[in-house]
Amino acid sequence: MIKAVLFDLDGTLLDRARSLIHFAEQQHQRFHNVLGKIPKSIYVRDFAALDSNGRVWKDEVYRQLLERHKITAVSWETMLQDYVDNLAMSCVGFPGLVPMLAELQSRGYAMGMVTNGRSPFQERNISALKIQPFFSTILVSEAVGLRKPDSAIFRRALSDLNTAAIESVFVGDSPKSDIEGAQQIGMKTIWKHNSEWKSCDFADAVCKDLAGLPKIIQGL
Ligand SMILES: [Mg+2]
Repeated sequence: MIKAVLFDLDGTLLDRARSLIHFAEQQHQRFHNVLGKIPKSIYVRDFAALDSNGRVWKDEVYRQLLERHKITAVSWETMLQDYVDNLAMSCVGFPGLVPMLAELQSRGYAMGMVTNGRSPFQERNISALKIQPFFSTILVSEAVGLRKPDSAIFRRALSDLNTAAIESVFVGDSPKSDIEGAQQIGMKTIWKHNSEWKSCDFADAVCKDLAGLPKIIQGL
């Protein structure tokens, strides 16, 4: 019987693609005096493409973005700081996020989050979604010095929740970091569908829509 549900953040709870597009539009507006010659749609498109679904940290993204468009009136450091300071304002969850967490909470599941990323950057993004009260533990890789798929970070989260791997499920969108990582220590897994990977046939279940998650967990 499942007693604890652990989640990834980006691409699982946080709609990173939509958040990033909104952020890039706002940033283009904030820096229009130095970026004005790049049309907003091109800026947003290039920013999202260089980001490669989060695999490239933004220092490199901004270096390349400014170089590509021959922008010299602002430094990549300034743009990066603006990202760090303001992404949270643009963060949006996937549809049904809060009602889904509330339903799992009302059914008595312990909940945790394990995210690869920078600290306190990720904590601010989580706060912006107003979901931290649902979680008994939130581990950010930089803060704890461990990264998924390292089994140690999953073990640590389970220990915080005082739950055995066999009684827990991990929900995440990365086949390698989330699903393989959690399976290594014997957790059940639910792959949050992500068009980047198309499929993940070794997960115990697939979730396309957060609203359907409580039912999937019940059926495990
Ligand atoms: Mg993810």
